[in-house]
Amino acid sequence: MDREPIPWHKRAMADPAKKSVVIIGGGLMGTSAALGLAERGFSVTVLEKALPGAEASSAAAGILGPEIENVRPGPLLELCRMSRRLYPEWIRRLHKATSLDTDFHEGGSFDVAFSEAELKDKRTRRAFQTETRSGEDLSGDEARQRIAALSEEAKGAIHFPDDAHIAPRKLFRATRIAAERAGVTIRSGVGVRGLDFASSEQKKVSGVLLDDGSKLRADWTVVAAGSWTPLVSGLPLERGAIVPARGQVIELDGHFPRFQSVLFGSDIYMVPRSDGRVVVGSTLEFVGYQKAVTAQGVHRLLSGAMRLVPSLAQAELVDSWSNFRPYTPDERPIVGTFGIEGLIVASGHYRMGILLAPITAQIVLSLAEGRPAPLDLAPFEPRRSFAGSAAR
Ligand SMILES: Cc1cc2nc3c(=O)[nH]c(=O)nc-3n(C[C@H](O)[C@H](O)[C@H](O)COP(=O)(O)OP(=O)(O)OC[C@H]3O[C@@H](n4cnc5c(N)ncnc54)[C@H](O)[C@@H]3O)c2cc1C
Repeated sequence: MDREPIPWHKRAMADPAKKSVVIIGGGLMGTSAALGLAERGFSVTVLEKALPGAEASSAAAGILGPEIENVRPGPLLELCRMSRRLYPEWIRRLHKATSLDTDFHEGGSFDVAFSEAELKDKRTRRAFQTETRSGEDLSGDEARQRIAALSEEAKGAIHFPDDAHIAPRKLFRATRIAAERAGVTIRSGVGVRGLDFASSEQKKVSGVLLDDGSKLRADWTVVAAGSWTPLVSGLPLERGAIVPARGQVIELDGHFPRFQSVLFGSDIYMVPRSDGRVVVGSTLEFVGYQKAVTAQGVHRLLSGAMRLVPSLAQAELVDSWSNFRPYTPDERPIVGTFGIEGLIVASGHYRMGILLAPITAQIVLSLAEGRPAPLDLAPFEPRRSFAGSAAR
């Protein structure tokens, strides 16, 4: 007699000897957490409503820049520096598991000023970095000696030698393949409606409720839904805790590499790719979940790029896209448990989620294993109040 086929969600959770984890969201955050958990013996299923990795994690420029991105000391800078230190080993392990290249490049970054006033302002704000030698104060000529293509207009720059960059789409592909090889089940086109609580007191999450009305049980539920996290029903997030912040990006093909480092101008940045292309980002817009590349956005990015590196005027404009950074009002990610059994949230990484993926994966693993996290999680606590931060 023919047996009824076992539905995929029952198959995925079929090994009773293993603790099960269901992850909502197949971006870099969900997939890298899944990889870490599977390597430690958890039975992991990632549920992705659309295509894995196709949202912010593919739209990102790929700056791994704790120094260039942070203009004040504090817990976020420490988190970023920890994650940056994890990168070389993480990339080595991904390469060992997949043989794939991720274009990881430790080429540093430059924060370039175009006027004496701008340079003075950068020197003041960056003093905590230059005084501790994580940043280096350069004159315009010194900066041009390092970046020959840099504009004659540049009056000076702060150089951060420890920053790096990577190609996010290649990184995601390697992470996804490594996760699947480690036993993770990734399901595309499976939307999660909300959390499934064990009782009406909502003190314990027992899995998820899917869009088709069915349920998937798990010992742990990890919410890694990026900008869509507030739409997961049952999650007790403060209103406005995570908001989509649109960023438009263009890609230029200069046909040969003009520089090897990340460059920041007044309101744009540029990230070189190994094939000679240059990614130019990014606008910051609060327009809900509306994807669009606008004339004004492209104009601003092109003007900023040509001002920094004038020879890019001859480059081809080969691509453009937009997507959403999961913004939080205090710009810190939301990572923790809400004090609810069986629940872990790993979201709100705003403009540094590529950089923060390795440390977030480690934190998720430590929470699932009941071990102390690698750092104090209080500044990233999901129940913190955002009152007084810049709400959008
Ligand atoms: C233009 C731009 C440039 C950026 N540049 C950089 C950079 O240079 N460096 C850096 O470190 N960071 C950068 N970032 C930020 C970084 O991309 C994000 O912080 C990071 O990708 C967030 O990863 P994520 O997995 O949380 O989100 P996402 O990649 O958006 O993934 C979330 C996934 O969850 C899925 N999902 C949502 N809700 C559900 C549901 N209910 N059920 C099932 N699936 C669901 C979505 O479909 C999506 O695939 C940039 C972002 C943008 C937009």
